Amino acid sequence: MSELRDFVADLLERRGAAVEALGPDRLEVLTPAPLRQQLGWPELTHLGFGAQQAAGTVAIALEGDWLDRFGALLADEGRWSERELRLPAPAPPPSDPERLLDRVLDLPNATWRLQGMSATWTRCLMLMFRLTALSDEKREQLIWLGFNLGTGAVINEILAQLRPALAQVDDWHMPDTATRRAAGPGWSSAALTARLRPVLEREARDVMEPFLRTMRRRLERDRDRVHAYHNDLREASLNRLLALDRASGDRAAADRRRETLRVEAIEREYRAKLDDLRRNYALRVTVEWVQALEIYVPVQRLEVLIRRRKGERIIPLDWHPLARMIERPLCEAGAGLDRVRLVCDDRLHLTDPAGHAPCTSCGKLFCRACFPNSCPRCHQTR
Ligand SMILES: [Zn+2]
Ligand SMILES: [Zn+2]
Repeated sequence: MSELRDFVADLLERRGAAVEALGPDRLEVLTPAPLRQQLGWPELTHLGFGAQQAAGTVAIALEGDWLDRFGALLADEGRWSERELRLPAPAPPPSDPERLLDRVLDLPNATWRLQGMSATWTRCLMLMFRLTALSDEKREQLIWLGFNLGTGAVINEILAQLRPALAQVDDWHMPDTATRRAAGPGWSSAALTARLRPVLEREARDVMEPFLRTMRRRLERDRDRVHAYHNDLREASLNRLLALDRASGDRAAADRRRETLRVEAIEREYRAKLDDLRRNYALRVTVEWVQALEIYVPVQRLEVLIRRRKGERIIPLDWHPLARMIERPLCEAGAGLDRVRLVCDDRLHLTDPAGHAPCTSCGKLFCRACFPNSCPRCHQTR
């Protein structure tokens, strides 16, 4: 239990409390006023971390809501925080949900039907990354990505709409138990990694594109300049050689040899200059995670029945009243940043078109959500 005790002591001290250890599983805490209110403690408090506690001691354990309360203390300065966004006034559900779905659902090989709609809460994860591109120049940029953990959808645009609202909330609060229960659980880190990678790669490429374009232009300009310079030198030498071909005698032979060596030297220097350019313009891109924010938001959840051949499956899609936007359907393989989804025969996965592309080696069409690592026929890794 001492890890928990140390964590709590450290956290409280950082927030202005005076903490003294009274043994391996007890702390005496002198708590300043604002912190007293947040934690509901008297000024002088004894905290206990063991199974047996003396009377008047606040028992702290991994169970219960203490970790949530301590998390709230960390939230505004930590790299991870959570808050709940409430509607300023009750919002009516969308009057024509089918029309909304029509805008975001494009299923070339399946049909869909709206089964129902209900108000609930969902949990959205906003992640901020720092992208650094280092070449002959350095470029840094922040990228925000978002997932609706309740539906699996990528909701970058919706979260972009919510960000100003988030900045304005000053009396933000922790989601209560009912909200958490309605919003459902989060994702395992494996599930998050699998979903995050394609979206982050795509986003990083998009963000880097203007930088890459200007870099490519500079590289082409430098390469043309290097080429023109060495080409002129080489042409002049070759012309001299041509003239020497018509002459005879020892003198001419020596000149020819010298000129031939000169041509070789020019070619060598040209290749070396190209290598230099390659090194100067080599691009190193690093992406690092900066911050995560989990927000609990009210939504209207649309249950959509997807039919493909004999199979059917219900997928949830949320309409976000705070942004007045509907999200695109989840994409179980690929970034899925546009609205086209192909549905697989076996498990009715939704993927973007690339997620059903033919195998590059044997040509078999297969679902990248069913077979994320290799082709089921030829086992070629993709
Ligand atoms: Zn194959
Ligand atoms: Zn599949």
